[in-house]
Amino acid sequence: MTAKLVQGYEVVIGFETHAQLSTKSKIFSRASVAFGAEPNTQACAVDMALPGTLPVMNVGAVERAIEFGLAVNSHIAERSIFARKNYFYPDLPKGYQISQFEIPVVQGGEVSFFLEEGKETVRKTVRLERAHLEEDAGKSLHEDFVGQSGIDLNRAGTPLLEIVTQPDMRSSAEAVAYAKELHKIVTWVGICDGNMQEGSFRCDANVSVRKPGGALGTRREIKNLNSFKFMQQAIDYEVRWQIEQIEDGHAIQQATVLFDPDTGETRAMRTKEDAADYRYFPDPDLPPLVIGRDWVERVRSEMAELPRVMAERFVKDYVLPDYDATQLTQSKAVAAYFEAVAQACGQAKLASNWIMGEVSRRLNASEMTIEQTPVSAAQLAALIGRISDNTISNNAARQVFEALWTEGGDVDALIEAKGLKQIQDTSELEKIIDDVLAANPKNVEEFKAGNAKALNGLVGPIMKASKGKANPGQVNALLMQKLT
Ligand code: ADP
Ligand code: MG
Repeated sequence: MTAKLVQGYEVVIGFETHAQLSTKSKIFSRASVAFGAEPNTQACAVDMALPGTLPVMNVGAVERAIEFGLAVNSHIAERSIFARKNYFYPDLPKGYQISQFEIPVVQGGEVSFFLEEGKETVRKTVRLERAHLEEDAGKSLHEDFVGQSGIDLNRAGTPLLEIVTQPDMRSSAEAVAYAKELHKIVTWVGICDGNMQEGSFRCDANVSVRKPGGALGTRREIKNLNSFKFMQQAIDYEVRWQIEQIEDGHAIQQATVLFDPDTGETRAMRTKEDAADYRYFPDPDLPPLVIGRDWVERVRSEMAELPRVMAERFVKDYVLPDYDATQLTQSKAVAAYFEAVAQACGQAKLASNWIMGEVSRRLNASEMTIEQTPVSAAQLAALIGRISDNTISNNAARQVFEALWTEGGDVDALIEAKGLKQIQDTSELEKIIDDVLAANPKNVEEFKAGNAKALNGLVGPIMKASKGKANPGQVNALLMQKLT
């Protein structure tokens, strides 16, 4: 594959994503993690770091990390270690964050997805370096806290899985596609609610540029991208900025930057700390996390079918192209809708075309999800049945679909009411064709003289005379019969 270059530079991106794990209580305490409570009403003595308190591992958080690892083909460490990451910040009352450093619980793995490149659809795989468990910090409230800055410790101790990739992405489009796929995986498996506005799924993009074939460039890390749209904008801006700096003869400084959606620019927040600055060391308050293989196997056996496994099954059972299978496994709800339609009408490829085409176009236009579709699987199946038995043309089917969407109703009744039935009777169609041939002798002559295009000048008027109710395939066949 030829490398994609921006102004002669290759873009290199690696992601760190914080997925908030969907447990009820915190990672090392029993306080609730529900979103939106009054400040400091969900912070217990452990979260406030009162002296004498000790952390206790939440087994539910570990189990979710195992589920994630299994979903992306990682190794689940038999033994992993919690470490203290030391830094001073007002929202971190212990003075350190409990995280994992040298031995993370989830090691390796990969995320693969499809990507549109020009007219082609290519499969791309991003390797994961690791995923580790850690606690979130609290929040500083600068805006509206009785006229002064305050600290809200509700978020302190919220369980996070930090998912780190290798620097495998080569464009903002690839980065967004990776993030969407990762989002799909964590929500599908159910370990994270994926709510980006509320911060349950936060992405940091590490971005650098280099001349093709050269060593990796110095990276800047764009923090807390909380929408796919901003992600793309931020990376594109950052790439242009870095190239401009280098072209102007300035070296890139490693830094942490923030994206400002109002200006569309990234802005340096602080120079980046190195691991050494955090003075990591194993947390003496927590024993090593030991995960027996029986636990892993139990978790594996209780997990629902994964999207990629389901996609493979769709390819095999429904004879669908890879691309369709991947699109249809975007969410459990889409997959269930597809299976219901395909099984009811027995036409899997048509079902897939309709769901990826008309249905998703309509859903997108009204910002709805498949759960909200007004056209039930049974209705769509009935509609597809009427296309495949030649009762209606594709065009007519789109009209029926539109009616189903806006008014609902019965497919056959709508076809009847709108007079959309294709002409089944050959003699009726032949009569129309004979009339059109008689009215267009010039086209007939040209066709007979070898100009194949002259046929178009005949098909159009025939379809028109039939009020769109002629079957185009049948029209063509009859025309050929009569003209050759
Ligand atoms: P840190 O310890 O500073 O977080 P890591 O080595 O863990 O750094 O890397 C963090 C992320 O940055 C990973 O996703 C990695 O793939 C990515 N990364 C590392 N080097 C580069 C680079 N030169 N350009 C882009 N991304 C990079
Ligand atoms: Mg890191």
